[in-house]
Formats: sequence, C-alpha cells, structure tokens
Amino acid sequence: MIVGTVREIKNHEYRVGLTPESARELTSHGHQVLVEQGAGHGIGALDAEYENAGAELVPAAAEVFERAEMIVKVKEPQAVERAMLREGQILYTYLHLAPDPEQTKDLVKSGAICIAYETVTDDDGGLPLLKPMSQVAGRMSIQAGATALEKAQGGRGVLLGGVPGVLPAKVAVIGGGVVGFNAAQMAAGLGADVTILDRNPAVLEKLAIHFESRAKTRFSSVANLADSVADADLVIGAVLIPGAAAPKLVTREMLGTMLPGAVLVDVAIDQGGCFETSKATTHADPTYTVDGIVHYCVANMPGAVCRTSTYALNNVTLPHAMRIANKGWKQALADDPHLLAGLNVWNGKVTYEAVARDLGYDY
Ligand code: NAD
Repeated sequence: MIVGTVREIKNHEYRVGLTPESARELTSHGHQVLVEQGAGHGIGALDAEYENAGAELVPAAAEVFERAEMIVKVKEPQAVERAMLREGQILYTYLHLAPDPEQTKDLVKSGAICIAYETVTDDDGGLPLLKPMSQVAGRMSIQAGATALEKAQGGRGVLLGGVPGVLPAKVAVIGGGVVGFNAAQMAAGLGADVTILDRNPAVLEKLAIHFESRAKTRFSSVANLADSVADADLVIGAVLIPGAAAPKLVTREMLGTMLPGAVLVDVAIDQGGCFETSKATTHADPTYTVDGIVHYCVANMPGAVCRTSTYALNNVTLPHAMRIANKGWKQALADDPHLLAGLNVWNGKVTYEAVARDLGYDY
C-alpha cells in the first residue's frame, strides 16, 4: 500500500503522523511511504532520517494526498487538506467530529474512509489511542505544578520532594484514571506526600494495591475533597465523566481555605475544567493567579513535549496502520471490531452513532 504523511498545518501542532521508525516498519513490510518534506521537523526528525528509512520525500502535501492510498496524520484535516481528500482514500488520524459539523460535511462529501483515533476501542472498554496523551498530560502536570510552586512563578516556594529534615509538599490528585495515575506516579517518585481522590471504589482499590504506602487513596466526597484541597501545596484536576463537561469540584470559595501560593493544575480543562476559577491558557502564558492561588490550565499539554507525544502516539497507532496496509482496510476492519469502532465516515455516510446523532445524519 502507498502510505503518506504530511506536515501538520493546524496552529501550534508540531507532532507528526509517522516517525522515521514507523516509516521504516512500513517499508520493511514492502509498503511505499511518502513523506512531505519537513513533516518531522517539529519533533527534530530530519528528512534524511525518513529517506534512510526507505521513504520517498515529496515537496508538497498535495502530492502526498494525490498519490497515497492511506494518509496518516495527527490532527483533524484542515479545510485545505479536506479539499484534497478523494473517494476511497483512507484517512487515519484524530478527528473529533461531534463538535465539528463543517469537517464532518467535508469528509462525508469526500467519499474517503475516515478512521478516528479517538474512537478505536480495546478489550477493557478503554480508548487506547487517546491513552498515551493522558499519560503524557498526567506526567507533565507534576512538572508544570513543580515549576509553578517556585516563588518567582507566584507559588509558595516549596520543593515537591522536600530535603532531608524538611517535609515534602502535599499533592492532591482529583481523579485516579489515566491522568491521575500518571500524575501520582511522578509526584510519588519525587518524594511528595500524595493523596489520590476518586469516586469509583474499584479505581481506589487498584490504586491502593499499586502504590501501597507511596500514595494515599481517599473517597472523593464533598467533605474529603474540601479537606484535601485545603491542605495541599499542589492540586491536580484529573476527573472525567465520559461525554459530559467536567464537574466543578473546587469552588471559588474553597480557594480561600487553601494555602497562599498553592497551585492548581487543571488537566480536565479540555472538558471545561474541574475548578470553578479555571479558564484555558496556552503554553506561551500558562498560569494566572486568583485569590492568591496559581492556576495552570493548558488545554493541549502534550503539545509542549511533541517529540515524546509523537513517539507515544505512534506506538499505539502504528500496529493498526500496519494491519490496514497489510490486509487492506476492509479485511483489517472486518477482523477487528475495535478498529471498526474507529470508522467514523465511509462511502459518504457517517458511520459512528454518536456523531450521526449529534450532527443529524442518518445512521
Ligand atoms: P479517565 O476516565 O481515565 O479518569 C477519570 C477519573 O475521574 C475516573 O477514575 C473517574 O472515576 C474519576 N472521577 C469522576 N468524577 C469524579 C469526582 N467527582 N471525584 C473524583 N474523581 C472522579 O480519564 P483521563 O484519561 O485520566 O482524563 C482526565 C481528563 O484529562 C479528561 O478531561 C481528559 O480529556 C483530560 N486530558 C487533558 C489533557 C490536556 O492537555 N489538558 C490531555 C489529556 C487528557
């Protein structure tokens, strides 16, 4: 199969659909790989690395779209890219169609076979192609929080792990899913005093078994939450209620109970945020202060570590891409219901129920 990848053109997107290593995997299985010149520059992958991997460099995205049977990307195609998609071509990328009627209309019109990373499933009922980005954001939240705790950044001037003879910082992680687990791992690794709050007893049990004495678990009742937040140097917001806006678990009033210079990192900001005082920020200006509490609310945290994020994403997207290339999309989807769950648009129709329902298409 001819597989192509292009330079991402969405604002501030530096990741790339195929790393040179992924290109090599495809070429070593007899596939032809087309790469737009400069596609890997954002992550420091040089054109020569793709060439060494057996890929063919082409000067413009238009040529990739013209020749490739499958396009592997990161972000949803922008309008100029959608105009280049053609009937029967496979598009394999994040799509997030439900809130995006314009994109959906164009994909339906294109006749392309559109497989969305975010709806591919696994045996545990999880979303394995979203998971690495939650892992990245969870791990990064502690780095971001540690920096914000520095005095010059407006924080309390506290070192997360303390030093011999000085107590470590207290970290409260609200939500013990993928983000919360990874945040707790980093914080505990640095020697912080970590408490993870969740409402799901099975999640609390799993965390307690994993962390043993390196982190405490606590049921996320209103009272427990208020108590943990009041006591914490750093609070990580990592809750998710699937398909719904994040609940506002920390109110403005509660900020008054917190330690001056304490830090809130709201990873759930992409779902509206779980602190009442959260508003989305960018990597260029990530923090602001309300009532003496520093807030970090960057909605695309993985973008800052685009190299790590690209490799983490490729680890989970490549095996499916290989199967599609080896077997053809029809057979690959027929053989794997989890990959089939990723099919959002096909043959001029919306084939993912929630998207069809939300945007008024027949399903
Ligand atoms: P997840 O489903 O793995 O975990 C969410 C957890 O929240 C679950 O364990 C659930 O039981 C718990 N929860 C729900 N209500 C709660 C409550 N009231 N109190 C305590 N816990 C509660 O989800 P995830 O992958 O960890 O993602 C968490 C959030 O991070 C999502 O909103 C996701 O979109 C977001 N995210 C943001 C970025 C970013 O760059 N900002 C990147 C990745 C993910």
